[in-house]
Amino acid sequence: MLKGIAASSGIAIAKVYKLEEPKLTIVKKEADVDCELEKLNAGFEKTKADIELIKSRAAANLSAEELAIFDAHLMMANDPELKGQMKETIKNEHCNAEYAADSVGNMMVTMFENMEDAYFKERAADVRDVTFRLKCNLCGVTIPDLTTIDEQVVIVANDLTPSDTSQLNKKYTLGFATEIGGRTSHSAIMARSLEIPAVVGCKGIMETATMGQEIILDALNGEVILDPSEEQKKTYAKRAEEFAQERAALKVLVNEKSISTDGHVVDLAGNIGSPKDVDAVLSNGGEGVGLFRTEFLYMNSETDFPSEDEQFAAYKTVLEKMNGKRVVIRTLDIGGDKKLKYFTFPEEMNPFLGYRAVRFCLDRKDVFRVQLRALLRASVYGKLAIMFPMIATLKEFREAKGVYEEEKAKLMSEGVAVADNIEVGMMVEIPASAVLADQFAKEADFFSIGTNDLIQYTMAADRMSEKVSYLYQPLNPSILRLVKLAIDGAHSQGKWCGMCGEMAGDELAAPVLLGLGLDEFSMSATSILRARKMIRGLSYEKMKEMAEKALKLDTCEEVTELVKSVVGK
Ligand code: PEP
Ligand code: MG
Repeated sequence: MLKGIAASSGIAIAKVYKLEEPKLTIVKKEADVDCELEKLNAGFEKTKADIELIKSRAAANLSAEELAIFDAHLMMANDPELKGQMKETIKNEHCNAEYAADSVGNMMVTMFENMEDAYFKERAADVRDVTFRLKCNLCGVTIPDLTTIDEQVVIVANDLTPSDTSQLNKKYTLGFATEIGGRTSHSAIMARSLEIPAVVGCKGIMETATMGQEIILDALNGEVILDPSEEQKKTYAKRAEEFAQERAALKVLVNEKSISTDGHVVDLAGNIGSPKDVDAVLSNGGEGVGLFRTEFLYMNSETDFPSEDEQFAAYKTVLEKMNGKRVVIRTLDIGGDKKLKYFTFPEEMNPFLGYRAVRFCLDRKDVFRVQLRALLRASVYGKLAIMFPMIATLKEFREAKGVYEEEKAKLMSEGVAVADNIEVGMMVEIPASAVLADQFAKEADFFSIGTNDLIQYTMAADRMSEKVSYLYQPLNPSILRLVKLAIDGAHSQGKWCGMCGEMAGDELAAPVLLGLGLDEFSMSATSILRARKMIRGLSYEKMKEMAEKALKLDTCEEVTELVKSVVGK
Protein backbone atom coordinates (compact mmCIF):
# COMPACT_ATOMS: atom_id res chain seq x y z
CA MET A 1 0.00 0.00 0.00
CA LEU A 2 1.20 3.51 -0.86
CA LYS A 3 0.38 6.54 1.25
CA GLY A 4 -0.46 9.97 -0.08
CA ILE A 5 -2.67 12.93 0.70
CA ALA A 6 -6.43 12.58 0.25
CA ALA A 7 -7.15 15.56 -1.98
CA SER A 8 -10.66 14.93 -3.24
CA SER A 9 -12.79 12.40 -1.41
CA GLY A 10 -14.16 9.17 -2.78
CA ILE A 11 -13.10 5.66 -3.65
CA ALA A 12 -12.30 4.25 -7.08
CA ILE A 13 -11.51 0.73 -8.18
CA ALA A 14 -10.26 0.41 -11.76
CA LYS A 15 -7.22 -0.11 -13.95
CA VAL A 16 -4.15 2.10 -13.94
CA TYR A 17 -3.76 4.50 -16.85
CA LYS A 18 -0.21 5.73 -16.58
CA LEU A 19 0.30 9.16 -18.00
CA GLU A 20 3.95 9.25 -18.85
CA GLU A 21 5.74 10.53 -21.88
CA PRO A 22 7.44 7.57 -23.60
CA LYS A 23 11.23 7.68 -23.61
CA LEU A 24 12.64 7.10 -27.09
CA THR A 25 16.18 6.02 -27.87
CA ILE A 26 16.94 6.85 -31.45
CA VAL A 27 20.24 5.87 -33.03
CA LYS A 28 21.49 6.45 -36.54
CA LYS A 29 21.50 3.32 -38.70
CA GLU A 30 22.48 2.64 -42.29
CA ALA A 31 19.25 1.76 -44.16
CA ASP A 32 17.58 1.25 -47.51
CA VAL A 33 16.52 4.67 -48.81
CA ASP A 34 13.26 3.62 -50.54
CA CYS A 35 12.16 1.59 -47.57
CA GLU A 36 12.80 4.45 -45.16
CA LEU A 37 11.06 7.01 -47.40
CA GLU A 38 8.01 4.80 -47.46
CA LYS A 39 8.17 4.39 -43.71
CA LEU A 40 8.43 8.16 -43.27
CA ASN A 41 5.35 8.67 -45.46
CA ALA A 42 3.36 6.17 -43.47
CA GLY A 43 4.55 7.81 -40.23
CA PHE A 44 3.30 11.20 -41.39
CA GLU A 45 -0.05 9.76 -42.47
CA LYS A 46 -0.54 8.09 -39.09
CA THR A 47 0.50 11.26 -37.28
CA LYS A 48 -2.06 13.33 -39.19
CA ALA A 49 -4.77 10.75 -38.56
CA ASP A 50 -3.90 10.71 -34.82
CA ILE A 51 -4.17 14.49 -34.55
CA GLU A 52 -7.50 14.50 -36.41
CA LEU A 53 -8.81 11.83 -34.07
CA ILE A 54 -7.68 13.60 -30.91
CA LYS A 55 -9.19 16.83 -32.19
CA SER A 56 -12.56 15.24 -32.89
CA ARG A 57 -12.60 13.56 -29.48
CA ALA A 58 -11.64 16.77 -27.69
CA ALA A 59 -14.26 18.82 -29.57
CA ALA A 60 -16.92 18.10 -26.96
CA ASN A 61 -14.85 19.43 -24.06
CA LEU A 62 -12.76 22.24 -25.47
CA SER A 63 -13.55 25.71 -26.77
CA ALA A 64 -12.90 26.72 -30.38
CA GLU A 65 -9.79 28.54 -29.25
CA GLU A 66 -8.45 25.51 -27.42
CA LEU A 67 -9.16 23.34 -30.45
CA ALA A 68 -7.14 25.68 -32.66
CA ILE A 69 -3.95 24.12 -31.30
CA PHE A 70 -4.79 20.93 -33.18
CA ASP A 71 -5.13 22.86 -36.43
CA ALA A 72 -1.69 24.33 -35.85
CA HIS A 73 -0.37 20.79 -35.35
CA LEU A 74 -2.09 19.56 -38.51
CA MET A 75 -0.59 22.41 -40.46
CA MET A 76 2.82 21.45 -39.16
CA ALA A 77 2.28 17.77 -40.08
CA ASN A 78 1.29 18.88 -43.60
CA ASP A 79 4.23 21.26 -43.94
CA PRO A 80 6.17 20.22 -47.09
CA GLU A 81 9.34 21.83 -45.69
CA LEU A 82 9.43 19.64 -42.60
CA LYS A 83 8.85 16.40 -44.48
CA GLY A 84 11.07 17.53 -47.38
CA GLN A 85 14.06 18.06 -45.11
CA MET A 86 13.59 14.65 -43.51
CA LYS A 87 13.45 13.01 -46.95
CA GLU A 88 16.62 14.83 -47.96
CA THR A 89 18.37 13.57 -44.83
CA ILE A 90 17.36 9.97 -45.62
CA LYS A 91 18.57 10.30 -49.21
CA ASN A 92 21.82 12.05 -48.39
CA GLU A 93 22.80 10.03 -45.37
CA HIS A 94 21.21 6.65 -46.23
CA CYS A 95 19.87 6.60 -42.72
CA ASN A 96 16.78 5.34 -40.93
CA ALA A 97 13.58 7.43 -40.90
CA GLU A 98 13.56 7.69 -37.07
CA TYR A 99 16.97 9.34 -37.11
CA ALA A 100 16.03 11.71 -39.95
CA ALA A 101 12.86 12.75 -38.07
CA ASP A 102 14.83 13.26 -34.88
CA SER A 103 17.67 15.31 -36.32
CA VAL A 104 15.48 17.52 -38.54
CA GLY A 105 12.95 17.94 -35.71
CA ASN A 106 15.65 19.04 -33.27
CA MET A 107 17.14 21.41 -35.78
CA MET A 108 13.74 23.02 -36.49
CA VAL A 109 12.96 23.37 -32.78
CA THR A 110 16.26 25.17 -32.19
CA MET A 111 15.65 27.38 -35.21
CA PHE A 112 12.20 28.49 -33.97
CA GLU A 113 13.43 28.92 -30.41
CA ASN A 114 16.08 31.34 -31.60
CA MET A 115 13.70 33.56 -33.51
CA GLU A 116 13.02 37.06 -32.26
CA ASP A 117 9.35 37.14 -33.09
CA ALA A 118 7.24 35.80 -30.21
CA TYR A 119 4.80 34.11 -32.59
CA PHE A 120 7.54 32.05 -34.24
CA LYS A 121 9.22 31.34 -30.93
CA GLU A 122 6.01 29.69 -29.76
CA ARG A 123 5.95 27.48 -32.86
CA ALA A 124 8.91 25.60 -31.39
CA ALA A 125 6.52 23.81 -29.04
CA ASP A 126 4.31 22.79 -31.97
CA VAL A 127 7.26 21.35 -33.91
CA ARG A 128 8.38 19.49 -30.80
CA ASP A 129 4.90 17.99 -30.27
CA VAL A 130 4.37 16.99 -33.88
CA THR A 131 7.83 15.52 -34.44
CA PHE A 132 7.60 13.66 -31.12
CA ARG A 133 4.34 12.07 -32.26
CA LEU A 134 5.92 11.25 -35.61
CA LYS A 135 8.94 9.64 -33.95
CA CYS A 136 6.71 7.58 -31.67
CA ASN A 137 4.78 6.37 -34.68
CA LEU A 138 8.00 5.49 -36.51
CA CYS A 139 9.22 3.59 -33.44
CA GLY A 140 5.84 1.90 -32.94
CA VAL A 141 5.38 3.47 -29.47
CA THR A 142 1.96 4.70 -28.26
CA ILE A 143 1.69 8.10 -26.58
CA PRO A 144 -0.71 8.09 -23.62
CA ASP A 145 -3.60 10.34 -24.50
CA LEU A 146 -6.33 11.20 -22.03
CA THR A 147 -8.89 11.87 -24.73
CA THR A 148 -8.64 8.32 -26.08
CA ILE A 149 -9.51 6.60 -22.81
CA ASP A 150 -12.57 4.44 -23.32
CA GLU A 151 -12.63 2.21 -20.25
CA GLN A 152 -12.80 2.93 -16.53
CA VAL A 153 -9.39 3.96 -15.24
CA VAL A 154 -7.53 5.66 -12.42
CA ILE A 155 -4.92 8.00 -13.89
CA VAL A 156 -1.46 7.77 -12.41
CA ALA A 157 0.85 10.68 -13.20
CA ASN A 158 3.70 12.69 -11.79
CA ASP A 159 1.32 15.67 -11.71
CA LEU A 160 -1.63 16.72 -13.84
CA THR A 161 -1.56 20.08 -15.58
CA PRO A 162 -4.72 22.18 -15.93
CA SER A 163 -4.86 21.21 -19.60
CA ASP A 164 -4.66 17.51 -18.62
CA THR A 165 -7.50 17.93 -16.16
CA SER A 166 -9.60 19.82 -18.70
CA GLN A 167 -9.40 16.78 -21.00
CA LEU A 168 -10.51 14.26 -18.39
CA ASN A 169 -13.67 12.45 -19.29
CA LYS A 170 -15.48 11.82 -16.01
CA LYS A 171 -17.32 8.87 -17.50
CA TYR A 172 -14.09 6.87 -17.66
CA THR A 173 -11.74 8.64 -15.29
CA LEU A 174 -12.75 7.39 -11.88
CA GLY A 175 -9.93 9.14 -10.06
CA PHE A 176 -6.27 10.01 -10.09
CA ALA A 177 -3.13 9.56 -8.08
CA THR A 178 -0.13 11.83 -8.50
CA GLU A 179 3.44 11.51 -7.33
CA ILE A 180 3.76 15.16 -6.26
CA GLY A 181 1.53 17.88 -4.83
CA GLY A 182 -0.33 18.68 -1.63
CA ARG A 183 -3.96 19.31 -0.61
CA THR A 184 -3.82 22.81 -2.01
CA SER A 185 -1.86 22.13 -5.20
CA HIS A 186 -3.83 23.00 -8.29
CA SER A 187 -4.39 19.45 -9.48
CA ALA A 188 -5.98 18.73 -6.09
CA ILE A 189 -8.21 21.77 -6.38
CA MET A 190 -9.25 20.76 -9.90
CA ALA A 191 -10.08 17.23 -8.73
CA ARG A 192 -12.46 18.66 -6.16
CA SER A 193 -14.17 20.91 -8.67
CA LEU A 194 -14.50 17.97 -11.08
CA GLU A 195 -15.80 15.83 -8.19
CA ILE A 196 -13.39 12.98 -8.83
CA PRO A 197 -11.46 11.23 -6.06
CA ALA A 198 -7.75 12.03 -5.95
CA VAL A 199 -4.71 11.13 -3.90
CA VAL A 200 -1.76 13.48 -4.39
CA GLY A 201 1.81 13.47 -3.11
CA CYS A 202 1.77 9.68 -3.41
CA LYS A 203 5.51 9.00 -3.34
CA GLY A 204 6.65 6.01 -5.36
CA ILE A 205 3.48 5.57 -7.41
CA MET A 206 5.19 6.32 -10.72
CA GLU A 207 7.85 3.75 -10.06
CA THR A 208 5.47 1.09 -8.77
CA ALA A 209 2.34 1.31 -10.91
CA THR A 210 2.19 -0.12 -14.42
CA MET A 211 -0.28 0.47 -17.22
CA GLY A 212 -3.35 -1.74 -16.91
CA GLN A 213 -2.63 -2.92 -13.36
CA GLU A 214 -5.60 -3.10 -10.98
CA ILE A 215 -5.75 -0.30 -8.44
CA ILE A 216 -7.84 0.80 -5.48
CA LEU A 217 -7.76 4.54 -4.86
CA ASP A 218 -8.92 5.30 -1.35
CA ALA A 219 -9.19 9.07 -1.42
CA LEU A 220 -10.94 9.14 1.94
CA ASN A 221 -7.80 7.98 3.72
CA GLY A 222 -5.14 8.92 1.15
CA GLU A 223 -4.16 5.35 0.28
CA VAL A 224 -3.48 3.45 -2.90
CA ILE A 225 -3.48 -0.33 -3.24
CA LEU A 226 -2.03 -1.92 -6.36
CA ASP A 227 -2.99 -5.47 -7.40
CA PRO A 228 -5.64 -5.75 -4.68
CA SER A 229 -6.95 -9.11 -3.52
CA GLU A 230 -10.57 -10.12 -4.21
CA GLU A 231 -11.25 -9.56 -0.51
CA GLN A 232 -9.91 -6.00 -0.65
CA LYS A 233 -11.89 -5.22 -3.77
CA LYS A 234 -15.08 -6.38 -2.05
CA THR A 235 -14.39 -4.30 1.09
CA TYR A 236 -13.64 -1.15 -0.86
CA ALA A 237 -16.59 -1.59 -3.22
CA LYS A 238 -18.81 -1.62 -0.12
CA ARG A 239 -17.14 1.52 1.25
CA ALA A 240 -17.57 3.25 -2.10
CA GLU A 241 -21.25 2.38 -2.07
CA GLU A 242 -21.69 3.79 1.47
CA PHE A 243 -19.88 6.96 0.45
CA ALA A 244 -22.18 7.41 -2.56
CA GLN A 245 -25.23 6.88 -0.35
CA GLU A 246 -24.04 9.44 2.16
CA ARG A 247 -23.52 11.97 -0.64
CA ALA A 248 -26.99 11.31 -2.04
CA ALA A 249 -28.59 11.69 1.40
CA LEU A 250 -27.12 15.17 1.77
CA LYS A 251 -29.04 16.36 -1.28
CA VAL A 252 -32.11 17.10 0.90
CA LEU A 253 -30.20 20.13 2.17
CA VAL A 254 -29.76 21.76 -1.24
CA ASN A 255 -32.40 24.42 -0.66
CA GLU A 256 -31.98 24.74 3.10
CA LYS A 257 -30.32 27.66 4.89
CA SER A 258 -26.85 27.46 6.41
CA ILE A 259 -28.04 28.31 9.89
CA SER A 260 -26.79 27.30 13.33
CA THR A 261 -29.12 25.81 15.95
CA ASP A 262 -29.35 29.25 17.60
CA GLY A 263 -30.20 31.14 14.41
CA HIS A 264 -26.85 32.47 13.19
CA VAL A 265 -26.79 32.45 9.38
CA VAL A 266 -23.68 32.18 7.21
CA ASP A 267 -23.21 31.87 3.45
CA LEU A 268 -21.80 28.69 1.94
CA ALA A 269 -20.42 29.40 -1.52
CA GLY A 270 -18.46 27.44 -4.12
CA ASN A 271 -15.02 27.87 -5.66
CA ILE A 272 -14.88 27.60 -9.44
CA GLY A 273 -12.16 27.54 -12.10
CA SER A 274 -14.36 27.96 -15.18
CA PRO A 275 -17.97 28.75 -16.10
CA LYS A 276 -18.55 24.98 -16.46
CA ASP A 277 -18.09 24.54 -12.70
CA VAL A 278 -21.11 26.70 -11.84
CA ASP A 279 -23.53 23.81 -12.37
CA ALA A 280 -21.90 21.82 -9.57
CA VAL A 281 -22.11 24.84 -7.24
CA LEU A 282 -25.83 25.19 -7.92
CA SER A 283 -26.63 21.48 -7.71
CA ASN A 284 -24.84 21.35 -4.37
CA GLY A 285 -26.83 24.26 -2.99
CA GLY A 286 -24.12 26.95 -3.17
CA GLU A 287 -25.33 30.35 -2.01
CA GLY A 288 -22.92 32.12 -4.30
CA VAL A 289 -19.52 31.80 -5.90
CA GLY A 290 -16.91 32.81 -3.35
CA LEU A 291 -13.94 32.47 -5.67
CA PHE A 292 -13.68 32.33 -9.44
CA ARG A 293 -10.03 31.56 -10.16
CA THR A 294 -9.77 33.43 -13.46
CA GLU A 295 -6.19 32.30 -14.07
CA PHE A 296 -7.51 29.13 -15.72
CA LEU A 297 -8.92 31.28 -18.55
CA TYR A 298 -5.41 32.57 -19.05
CA MET A 299 -3.72 29.19 -18.64
CA ASN A 300 -5.99 27.49 -21.15
CA SER A 301 -5.36 30.18 -23.70
CA GLU A 302 -2.79 29.01 -26.25
CA THR A 303 -1.18 31.98 -27.90
CA ASP A 304 -1.99 35.19 -26.04
CA PHE A 305 -3.73 36.69 -23.02
CA PRO A 306 -7.47 36.09 -23.44
CA SER A 307 -9.23 39.02 -25.13
CA GLU A 308 -11.66 41.37 -23.40
CA ASP A 309 -14.60 39.82 -25.26
CA GLU A 310 -13.59 36.29 -24.44
CA GLN A 311 -13.31 37.16 -20.74
CA PHE A 312 -16.54 39.15 -20.82
CA ALA A 313 -18.37 36.08 -22.18
CA ALA A 314 -17.01 33.88 -19.37
CA TYR A 315 -17.86 36.34 -16.56
CA LYS A 316 -21.30 37.05 -18.01
CA THR A 317 -22.09 33.33 -18.17
CA VAL A 318 -21.17 32.82 -14.53
CA LEU A 319 -23.12 35.89 -13.34
CA GLU A 320 -26.19 34.93 -15.34
CA LYS A 321 -26.14 31.32 -14.21
CA MET A 322 -25.88 32.41 -10.58
CA ASN A 323 -28.99 34.49 -11.13
CA GLY A 324 -28.47 37.31 -8.64
CA LYS A 325 -26.43 35.34 -6.10
CA ARG A 326 -23.10 36.95 -5.32
CA VAL A 327 -20.16 36.01 -7.55
CA VAL A 328 -16.69 36.90 -6.29
CA ILE A 329 -14.28 37.06 -9.21
CA ARG A 330 -10.61 37.21 -8.44
CA THR A 331 -8.41 39.17 -10.81
CA LEU A 332 -5.53 37.33 -12.43
CA ASP A 333 -3.48 35.29 -9.96
CA ILE A 334 -0.70 34.01 -12.18
CA GLY A 335 2.93 33.17 -11.42
CA GLY A 336 4.15 30.87 -8.65
CA ASP A 337 3.30 27.39 -9.93
CA LYS A 338 0.88 28.79 -12.51
CA LYS A 339 2.55 29.41 -15.84
CA LEU A 340 1.40 30.69 -19.23
CA LYS A 341 2.26 29.24 -22.63
CA TYR A 342 2.64 32.66 -24.24
CA PHE A 343 4.46 34.60 -21.56
CA THR A 344 7.75 33.74 -19.94
CA PHE A 345 8.06 34.68 -16.30
CA PRO A 346 11.49 35.77 -15.14
CA GLU A 347 13.57 33.02 -13.53
CA GLU A 348 13.33 33.50 -9.77
CA MET A 349 14.74 31.61 -6.81
CA ASN A 350 11.36 31.66 -5.05
CA PRO A 351 8.55 32.07 -7.57
CA PHE A 352 5.88 31.80 -4.83
CA LEU A 353 7.42 34.88 -3.24
CA GLY A 354 8.02 36.60 -6.51
CA TYR A 355 6.52 38.26 -9.50
CA ARG A 356 2.92 37.04 -9.36
CA ALA A 357 -0.75 37.90 -8.97
CA VAL A 358 -1.43 41.59 -8.28
CA ARG A 359 2.30 42.31 -8.45
CA PHE A 360 2.30 41.16 -12.05
CA CYS A 361 -0.96 43.03 -12.80
CA LEU A 362 0.33 46.32 -11.40
CA ASP A 363 3.45 45.91 -13.52
CA ARG A 364 1.48 44.89 -16.63
CA LYS A 365 -1.42 47.30 -16.37
CA ASP A 366 -2.20 46.73 -20.05
CA VAL A 367 -3.12 43.12 -19.19
CA PHE A 368 -4.89 44.16 -15.96
CA ARG A 369 -7.03 46.81 -17.68
CA VAL A 370 -8.39 44.29 -20.20
CA GLN A 371 -9.61 42.07 -17.38
CA LEU A 372 -11.12 44.94 -15.41
CA ARG A 373 -13.00 46.19 -18.47
CA ALA A 374 -14.38 42.70 -19.13
CA LEU A 375 -15.49 42.45 -15.49
CA LEU A 376 -17.08 45.89 -15.46
CA ARG A 377 -18.99 45.18 -18.66
CA ALA A 378 -20.23 41.87 -17.25
CA SER A 379 -21.29 43.48 -13.96
CA VAL A 380 -24.80 44.29 -15.19
CA TYR A 381 -25.62 40.59 -15.54
CA GLY A 382 -25.63 39.73 -11.85
CA LYS A 383 -24.20 40.54 -8.44
CA LEU A 384 -20.48 41.02 -8.95
CA ALA A 385 -17.73 41.34 -6.38
CA ILE A 386 -14.14 41.76 -7.56
CA MET A 387 -11.12 40.93 -5.45
CA PHE A 388 -7.40 41.38 -5.85
CA PRO A 389 -5.10 38.50 -4.89
CA MET A 390 -1.82 38.67 -2.94
CA ILE A 391 -2.27 42.16 -1.55
CA ALA A 392 0.57 42.91 0.87
CA THR A 393 0.31 46.66 1.29
CA LEU A 394 -2.37 49.32 1.29
CA LYS A 395 -0.48 51.07 -1.47
CA GLU A 396 -0.98 48.04 -3.72
CA PHE A 397 -4.67 47.90 -2.90
CA ARG A 398 -5.08 51.59 -3.65
CA GLU A 399 -3.18 51.31 -6.89
CA ALA A 400 -5.23 48.31 -8.05
CA LYS A 401 -8.47 50.01 -7.06
CA GLY A 402 -7.28 53.18 -8.81
CA VAL A 403 -6.86 51.31 -12.10
CA TYR A 404 -10.31 49.81 -11.59
CA GLU A 405 -11.84 53.26 -11.04
CA GLU A 406 -10.11 54.61 -14.15
CA GLU A 407 -11.48 51.82 -16.33
CA LYS A 408 -14.92 52.24 -14.81
CA ALA A 409 -14.92 55.96 -15.56
CA LYS A 410 -13.69 55.33 -19.11
CA LEU A 411 -16.40 52.78 -19.83
CA MET A 412 -19.09 55.03 -18.42
CA SER A 413 -17.91 57.95 -20.52
CA GLU A 414 -18.12 55.61 -23.55
CA GLY A 415 -21.77 55.05 -22.62
CA VAL A 416 -21.25 51.42 -21.54
CA ALA A 417 -23.58 50.23 -18.76
CA VAL A 418 -21.82 49.32 -15.51
CA ALA A 419 -23.56 48.12 -12.33
CA ASP A 420 -23.51 50.55 -9.41
CA ASN A 421 -23.32 47.91 -6.68
CA ILE A 422 -20.00 46.20 -7.50
CA GLU A 423 -18.04 45.35 -4.36
CA VAL A 424 -14.27 45.70 -4.55
CA GLY A 425 -12.38 43.67 -2.00
CA MET A 426 -9.19 41.74 -1.54
CA MET A 427 -7.79 38.42 -0.54
CA VAL A 428 -6.11 38.20 2.82
CA GLU A 429 -3.43 35.63 2.09
CA ILE A 430 -0.23 37.39 3.08
CA PRO A 431 0.31 37.69 6.84
CA ALA A 432 1.07 41.43 6.48
CA SER A 433 -2.48 42.12 5.33
CA ALA A 434 -4.02 40.01 8.10
CA VAL A 435 -2.04 41.91 10.72
CA LEU A 436 -3.17 45.24 9.27
CA ALA A 437 -6.71 44.10 8.46
CA ASP A 438 -8.47 46.87 10.40
CA GLN A 439 -6.71 49.45 8.25
CA PHE A 440 -7.38 47.62 4.99
CA ALA A 441 -11.06 47.30 5.95
CA LYS A 442 -11.48 51.07 5.78
CA GLU A 443 -10.89 50.85 2.03
CA ALA A 444 -11.86 47.34 0.95
CA ASP A 445 -15.53 46.35 0.68
CA PHE A 446 -14.80 42.81 1.88
CA PHE A 447 -12.08 40.28 2.59
CA SER A 448 -11.72 36.71 1.50
CA ILE A 449 -9.09 34.82 3.42
CA GLY A 450 -6.88 32.67 1.19
CA THR A 451 -5.64 30.14 3.69
CA ASN A 452 -3.74 28.04 1.15
CA ASP A 453 -1.27 30.85 0.78
CA LEU A 454 -1.76 32.40 4.22
CA ILE A 455 -0.66 29.12 5.83
CA GLN A 456 2.19 28.63 3.37
CA TYR A 457 3.53 32.12 4.09
CA THR A 458 2.94 32.04 7.83
CA MET A 459 4.63 28.66 8.23
CA ALA A 460 7.19 29.36 5.49
CA ALA A 461 6.27 25.96 4.02
CA ASP A 462 5.93 25.50 0.26
CA ARG A 463 2.41 24.25 -0.47
CA MET A 464 3.71 22.08 -3.32
CA SER A 465 6.18 20.18 -1.17
CA GLU A 466 4.97 16.96 0.39
CA LYS A 467 8.09 16.91 2.57
CA VAL A 468 6.90 19.93 4.54
CA SER A 469 3.19 19.27 4.17
CA TYR A 470 3.04 18.54 7.92
CA LEU A 471 3.27 22.31 8.37
CA TYR A 472 -0.03 22.82 6.63
CA GLN A 473 -1.80 23.36 9.94
CA PRO A 474 -5.08 25.25 9.57
CA LEU A 475 -5.80 24.69 13.26
CA ASN A 476 -2.52 26.05 14.52
CA PRO A 477 -3.36 28.88 16.95
CA SER A 478 -1.05 31.19 14.98
CA ILE A 479 -3.24 30.75 11.92
CA LEU A 480 -6.43 31.10 13.97
CA ARG A 481 -5.17 34.37 15.40
CA LEU A 482 -4.45 35.75 11.92
CA VAL A 483 -7.88 34.64 10.75
CA LYS A 484 -9.41 36.38 13.76
CA LEU A 485 -7.52 39.58 12.94
CA ALA A 486 -8.95 39.51 9.42
CA ILE A 487 -12.53 38.83 10.56
CA ASP A 488 -12.47 41.37 13.40
CA GLY A 489 -10.77 43.92 11.13
CA ALA A 490 -13.56 43.59 8.55
CA HIS A 491 -16.31 43.74 11.17
CA SER A 492 -14.79 46.81 12.85
CA GLN A 493 -15.62 48.71 9.65
CA GLY A 494 -18.97 47.05 9.01
CA LYS A 495 -17.55 44.88 6.21
CA TRP A 496 -17.96 41.16 5.63
CA CYS A 497 -15.24 38.53 5.71
CA GLY A 498 -15.20 35.28 3.79
CA MET A 499 -12.71 32.50 3.31
CA CYS A 500 -11.97 30.78 0.01
CA GLY A 501 -8.92 28.73 0.95
CA GLU A 502 -9.31 25.00 1.53
CA MET A 503 -9.58 25.56 5.28
CA ALA A 504 -13.15 26.82 4.78
CA GLY A 505 -14.26 23.32 3.80
CA ASP A 506 -12.26 21.52 6.48
CA GLU A 507 -14.62 19.72 8.82
CA LEU A 508 -12.58 20.38 11.92
CA ALA A 509 -11.85 24.01 11.08
CA ALA A 510 -15.42 25.02 10.15
CA PRO A 511 -16.76 24.98 13.76
CA VAL A 512 -13.90 27.24 14.88
CA LEU A 513 -14.42 29.58 11.91
CA LEU A 514 -18.10 29.79 12.73
CA GLY A 515 -17.17 30.73 16.29
CA LEU A 516 -14.71 33.35 15.07
CA GLY A 517 -17.55 35.02 13.16
CA LEU A 518 -16.66 34.17 9.55
CA ASP A 519 -19.50 35.37 7.30
CA GLU A 520 -18.93 33.37 4.15
CA PHE A 521 -17.31 29.96 3.63
CA SER A 522 -16.31 29.23 0.04
CA MET A 523 -15.21 25.72 -0.85
CA SER A 524 -15.28 22.97 -3.48
CA ALA A 525 -18.85 22.41 -4.55
CA THR A 526 -18.81 18.84 -3.24
CA SER A 527 -18.02 19.98 0.29
CA ILE A 528 -20.92 22.46 0.58
CA LEU A 529 -23.68 20.11 1.69
CA ARG A 530 -21.55 18.35 4.26
CA ALA A 531 -20.58 21.74 5.70
CA ARG A 532 -24.23 22.81 5.73
CA LYS A 533 -25.23 19.69 7.59
CA MET A 534 -22.55 20.36 10.15
CA ILE A 535 -23.40 24.04 10.67
CA ARG A 536 -27.07 23.22 11.10
CA GLY A 537 -26.08 21.02 14.01
CA LEU A 538 -23.87 23.56 15.82
CA SER A 539 -24.62 26.29 18.34
CA TYR A 540 -23.03 29.62 17.42
CA GLU A 541 -22.73 30.66 21.07
CA LYS A 542 -20.98 27.42 21.93
CA MET A 543 -18.64 27.74 18.95
CA LYS A 544 -17.74 31.30 20.02
CA GLU A 545 -16.69 29.99 23.42
CA MET A 546 -14.75 27.16 21.81
CA ALA A 547 -12.96 29.54 19.41
CA GLU A 548 -11.95 31.78 22.32
CA LYS A 549 -10.38 28.77 24.03
CA ALA A 550 -8.70 27.57 20.83
CA LEU A 551 -6.95 30.92 20.36
CA LYS A 552 -5.22 30.44 23.71
CA LEU A 553 -3.97 26.91 23.10
CA ASP A 554 -0.37 26.10 22.15
CA THR A 555 -0.51 23.63 19.28
CA CYS A 556 -2.72 22.52 16.41
CA GLU A 557 -2.98 19.09 18.06
CA GLU A 558 -4.52 20.70 21.14
CA VAL A 559 -6.99 22.64 19.02
CA THR A 560 -7.88 19.45 17.14
CA GLU A 561 -8.56 17.67 20.43
CA LEU A 562 -10.66 20.58 21.67
CA VAL A 563 -12.80 20.66 18.53
CA LYS A 564 -13.26 16.91 18.58
CA SER A 565 -14.31 16.97 22.21
CA VAL A 566 -16.82 19.81 21.70
CA VAL A 567 -18.21 18.83 18.30
CA GLY A 568 -18.00 15.12 18.99
CA LYS A 569 -16.01 13.99 15.94
C1 PEP B 1 -5.57 30.62 -1.28
O1 PEP B 1 -4.40 30.97 -1.37
O2 PEP B 1 -6.08 30.17 -0.23
C2 PEP B 1 -6.47 30.70 -2.44
C3 PEP B 1 -7.76 30.50 -2.33
O3 PEP B 1 -5.92 30.93 -3.64
P1 PEP B 1 -5.08 29.87 -4.52
O4 PEP B 1 -5.27 28.51 -3.90
O5 PEP B 1 -5.64 29.96 -5.88
O6 PEP B 1 -3.70 30.39 -4.38
MG1 MG C 1 -3.71 32.12 -3.06
